[in-house]
Amino acid sequence: MVGQPKHLSDLARIEADVRITCRECGFEEDWQRDAFARHLFALGASQVWSEITRALRCRRFGCGSTNLRAAAVPFARRAANMPRRVGRLDAHLLDTAMKVLEQAVHTSRGRAVATLELRLALLVVYRYSHDRDGVRHFWQRASAADRTVDDGLVEPLRSIRHRLVQAGWLAPAILVDVPRTWPWNSPPPSGWLVAEEDG
Ligand SMILES: [Zn+2]
Repeated sequence: MVGQPKHLSDLARIEADVRITCRECGFEEDWQRDAFARHLFALGASQVWSEITRALRCRRFGCGSTNLRAAAVPFARRAANMPRRVGRLDAHLLDTAMKVLEQAVHTSRGRAVATLELRLALLVVYRYSHDRDGVRHFWQRASAADRTVDDGLVEPLRSIRHRLVQAGWLAPAILVDVPRTWPWNSPPPSGWLVAEEDG
């Protein structure tokens, strides 16, 4: 089938389940088509595909978002909420792109770091995260030389990483290394953060 289904019943022909994904927290839930049809019927909700998530809420405890996405998933694909199997090339590309971003963050204090290299890294990130705002936010800040400490790149980088982790492209940091801060005026060795001064 090309494109999106028009109606829930279209899924009978392609033998697919429905996966509801929360855009807020990333929680996924798989429904068999029949069970999902009964659920929608009980709610009095439409089975037209473009309206299919309207009556639903994220069922993860404490979330309840109504910002959901429905997708048809062929049988026997990866189970809901299982980490995506990331190919070696994808992992390598993203890893390198994230290193470029981290380097930019380290060297960005008080100057613009909007290099071609950074642009390429952000395009790679966008390829996987589809997070237009996050990528644009990082680029805009990287382009501004007169940033204050509060407008730094640390927070945009954190949000980009969060999106990639949520989407299953990056492994979540279970054991987070606390970055070491270089206390002297000399250039820090790699892996060390420059000490932030006030003002
Ligand atoms: Zn949610």
